Amino acid sequence: ILNNVFSTGKPFIANEFPVKLINKNTDKLDLHYYTSVIQPMKDEKGNIERLLTHGVEVTQQVEARKQIEEANKQLRTAATVTENIADAVVGTDMDYKTISWNKGAENLYGYSSEEVMGNYAMALLCTQFLSEEDKQAWSKALDATGKWQGEVVQSKKDGTLVSVLVSIAYVYDEKGKPIAAFAVNRDITDRKNAEEKIKESEAKFRTLSETIPHMIWTAAPDGKKNFYNKYFFEYTGLSFEELKDDGMLKIIFPEDIKKDLELWHHSLKTGENFIMEKRLRHHDGTYRWHLSHAIAQKDMQGNIIGWIGSSTEIEEQKMKEKQKDEFIAIAGHEMKTPLTIAKTYLHLLEMQLDEGAGEIKLFAKKANDSVEKLNQLIGELVDVSKIQEGKINYNLAPFNFNKLLDETMENMQIGAKNHHLKKSGNISHEVTGDKDRLQQVLINLLTNAIKYSPNANEVLVNVEEKENMIQVAVKDFGIGMNKQHLEKIFERYYRIQEHTMNFQGLGIGLYISYNIIIRHGGTMWAESDIGRGSTFYFTIPT
Ligand code: ADP
Repeated sequence: ILNNVFSTGKPFIANEFPVKLINKNTDKLDLHYYTSVIQPMKDEKGNIERLLTHGVEVTQQVEARKQIEEANKQLRTAATVTENIADAVVGTDMDYKTISWNKGAENLYGYSSEEVMGNYAMALLCTQFLSEEDKQAWSKALDATGKWQGEVVQSKKDGTLVSVLVSIAYVYDEKGKPIAAFAVNRDITDRKNAEEKIKESEAKFRTLSETIPHMIWTAAPDGKKNFYNKYFFEYTGLSFEELKDDGMLKIIFPEDIKKDLELWHHSLKTGENFIMEKRLRHHDGTYRWHLSHAIAQKDMQGNIIGWIGSSTEIEEQKMKEKQKDEFIAIAGHEMKTPLTIAKTYLHLLEMQLDEGAGEIKLFAKKANDSVEKLNQLIGELVDVSKIQEGKINYNLAPFNFNKLLDETMENMQIGAKNHHLKKSGNISHEVTGDKDRLQQVLINLLTNAIKYSPNANEVLVNVEEKENMIQVAVKDFGIGMNKQHLEKIFERYYRIQEHTMNFQGLGIGLYISYNIIIRHGGTMWAESDIGRGSTFYFTIPT
C-alpha cells in the first residue's frame, strides 16, 4: 500500500480496515479495525518526499455494529416464523417500538402491520388497561427473569375490548443484553365470558337454593355429596360434616335404603336420571315421604361433571293417596257382596225365563251383562289395592299358553263388532303361571287395542318364542300416543289427557297387567306413533 501511494501519488483512504496485530500477551494474531489515511507529502519540485499516515482504531464500533446486524437478522427470521402462528405475535425493541406484527396480531387487533411498525402499538395495547400495580409487577418480572405472563384486557382498533393471555419474553444478544421483547397474545375472550356466565349462574343457583323450601344437594361425579342447601340443614337438623359424602344415608328410612342404593348406583354407572319416592328423617325424629330426583350435569363431550339433586316433601299427597287407596279397597269389598248376590239372582232369573218371555228375557240378559261389567271393574279396583299391599295370590301351574291365547281371542272376537282379531305365530312350550291372571292381561291388551282404534278394522296378535321367553305383541292401528306417555301408561291411574274426552276408563288396566307380568318374571313395554297405532309387548319365561 505504501509503495503504491509512493509511486502513484494517490492517497490511500481506508474505512474500517482489518489489520491483524500480534497480541503481546498471547503471541497470537488479533483482528483490529482501523480507519486510516496515508497521504503523500511532496517537496518544492513536486517529488514525493515522504508519507504521512494517520489511523484511528475502530474495532469496538465495528464489532458492536456487526452484533446488531446479526441480531436484526435473527429477529427477522423470528418474525417470518411467527407469521404463520394463529396467535398474535408482537415484537418490540427495547424502546417498545413495534418491530414485528404478524397476521394473528392483525386479525386480533384490527391494525395492519403498516399502521403499527415503528409505533408504540404494543405498549399502548398492553398497558392501557393494566393497573399501576400490574405494570410494576410486569416490568419487575421482565427485568428480573426476562419473562412475564398474565391476563389483560386490551382494546382493538374498533374500540371493542378483548381479554388476552399475554406471554412476553426478552430476546438477548450474545453478551446477555436484552435487545427486543416478543409477546405471544392469545384471545381468551370467549373463555372469560363463559367463566363469567358460570360464575353468574352459580351465584343464581346458590341464591335460589338458599331460599326455596326444598332439599337441594350437589355431588361430585363419583356421587359424593359436596353441597347441601340451607333447608337441608333445617329439615334434618344435621351439619355439613355429618351429611357430607354418603352422610345422607343416615336420614333415609331403613327400608328404603336398599332400593335407594340400587337406583343411585345404576344412575352413577349410566348417567341416567335418578327418581325415587322415599322417607327422610325430620329433625323431630319422624320420617316424611319425599320425591327425590338427581340429574347428571355433563360437559360438551357428555362426561359427567357432577350431580344435582332435590327432595320435595310429598307427605300430604302420600297421606291423601293412602286414604284414597283405603277407601277404594273398603268400598270395593263392600260392593262385592251385594253385587255377587244380585248377579246370582239375575242369573237365576234369566234361567227361569223361557224363550217365550221375549223382551223380558232380553232385559234380564242385559242387566246380567252390565252387572258382570260392574263386577269386573270392582274386581280391578280391588286388584289395585291388593297390588299396593303385595297381597295378590298367584296360583302357578303349567298350562298350554297357545290354547289360552286362541280361546281368549275367540271370546273377544264375539264382542268385537268392527274389528277382526288376527293371530300369527304359534308356540308349543307350556308355560308355568297363573292362567287366569295371564288371561286378564290378554283381555286388557285386546280391549285397549279395540277401544283405542275406533276407526280401524283389525288387531294383530303375534306370538313367538325367544330365548326361553314367550313374546306376545298386540298391535292396533288406532289413535296411538306421543312417546312421552310411553313410560307412564303403566303407572297407577295414569290416563292420557287427550283420550279422557272420548274414551272411558280408570287408568288401572295396564298397571295391573304390568304387575302381573313382572310377578311372572317377564317384562312389558309399548311402542306407539300418534295417529298410527300402538303395539304392546310382553314376555314371560317358558
Ligand atoms: P284405561 O284404558 O282404563 O284408561 P289402561 O291402564 O288400560 O286404562 O290404559 C292407560 C292409558 O293408556 C289409557 O287411558 C290410554 O290413554 C292409554 N292407552 C292404553 N292402551 C292404548 C292403545 N292401545 N292405544 C292408545 N292409547 C292407549
